[in-house]
Amino acid sequence: MSDKPARVRFAPSPTGYLHVGGARTALFNWLYARKTGGQFILRIEDTDRNRFVPDSLQDILDSLRWLGLDWDEGPEIGGPSGPYFQSERLDEYQRWGDWLVEQGKAYRCYCTPEELEQRREEQRARKEDTGYDRRCRWLTPAERAEREASGLSWVVRLAVPTKGQITFHDEIRGDITFENRLLQDAVLVKSDGWPTYHLANVVDDHDMGITHIMRGDEWLSSVPLHWHLYQAFGWDPPVWAHLPVILNPNGQGKMKKRQIMQPDGTIVPVYVHNYRDMGFLPAAMVNFLCGIGWALDGETEIYDVETAISAFDIPAIQASPGAFPAEKLDWMNGVYIRNLSPEALMIGLVPFLSAELGIDEELLRHDARLQLLLPFVQERIKKLTEAGNLIDYLYFDPVIASPEDLVPRKTTVEQVRTGLAAAADALAQLQSWDEASIEQTLRALADDLDLKAGQLFSPIRVAVTGKAVAPPLFVTLLAVGRETVLQRLLAAMQLLP
Ligand code: GLU
Repeated sequence: MSDKPARVRFAPSPTGYLHVGGARTALFNWLYARKTGGQFILRIEDTDRNRFVPDSLQDILDSLRWLGLDWDEGPEIGGPSGPYFQSERLDEYQRWGDWLVEQGKAYRCYCTPEELEQRREEQRARKEDTGYDRRCRWLTPAERAEREASGLSWVVRLAVPTKGQITFHDEIRGDITFENRLLQDAVLVKSDGWPTYHLANVVDDHDMGITHIMRGDEWLSSVPLHWHLYQAFGWDPPVWAHLPVILNPNGQGKMKKRQIMQPDGTIVPVYVHNYRDMGFLPAAMVNFLCGIGWALDGETEIYDVETAISAFDIPAIQASPGAFPAEKLDWMNGVYIRNLSPEALMIGLVPFLSAELGIDEELLRHDARLQLLLPFVQERIKKLTEAGNLIDYLYFDPVIASPEDLVPRKTTVEQVRTGLAAAADALAQLQSWDEASIEQTLRALADDLDLKAGQLFSPIRVAVTGKAVAPPLFVTLLAVGRETVLQRLLAAMQLLP
């Protein structure tokens, strides 16, 4: 396949937030534009006013930007083929609708919705396929004139061939043959003068010079009709490539517009903004989405977007549906987090920590204690949202649910009490408050008291952090600070029976 600069588009309708499936479609188009040095166009297909969801447009733009999928033409930036909102291009569709009627490729249909419904009812009663019977297609000029004169409203329908077949090519699925008799004379212009998806989509792809249409599989069934529309206009169709469906994580059913509950109770959301809010990194998300229906080399899972751009190719996209591998995303995100520089990690974490702990972002950014613990946090989290729980004791006294939490197995309450008291004493007397001194002192103390390290360290950990698992003990104590450590050891001792 040639790699001439491609003009590709992502054409969402503002009828819902950006779904991960939509994001994958946008990404593949964007990759191909970047690979070929072409343009990625964002077009908003907002002709279905009944299904309009007001904040969905902003969500789509924000989500694409968060993923780094910048568009070369489209909303907010314009471009030579604008406007990029279909609602601002109505004249164009009207003009082409009229043109098709003049050319005899389309016709005005005066049947009312009630009449159509009644006929469908009759078809159902006769156990026939329901559909428009094309009666307005065959009206004589006189009958037509009569209807026009009586002021009936009309829609424009495409006059599709009723016999024969067409064969079109899909870059992913190969040649597909379709029987024309299965087609309807689809509506192109509605009675209110607005275009349907079919007309607006085909006119715009032509007007905007789109070379490749890459979109979800659910649109494959529209191609025969679009093929006839291109034919009627006398235009060459772009290259079609229909991306495989994304299935639910369990491999059953298409991933729809609702979050999915896994058997273990975890929730798999479907909107891109959910993933942003859950603490996924955009680079990890992009890497992950690349792998749904496409693979770099069948082996390498972690690769950056530049690598994906240079290797991306449409025929290499798989045709069969694949499940949404939710666990892989968690793993990938952990890998991306561990690869961040300390500065980048701090930048990524601060908004999450601030929101969770209610602490000013500026304060967090410059907190040396937090910086001290950051490398340990980095090793342990798979999502940015998991960090707060690992370091909240830097800012708040722990809540110890039960005194038993302070007492390790095979250890008596008395041993814990003595251990905590002796640790408080020893730490109070330390010459220098540094990690090595803290470690040395506590290890020596365990020996003196004839305790195993864990028998002494775990009560201290719980007393100071409220957790059984936290970053390594000595650096934790260092970060929390001597005064606070001593206070918390005493508070813990008072909890003991
Ligand atoms: N507006 C359609 C959608 O919401 C676009 C389909 C296409 O790309 O042709 O998915």
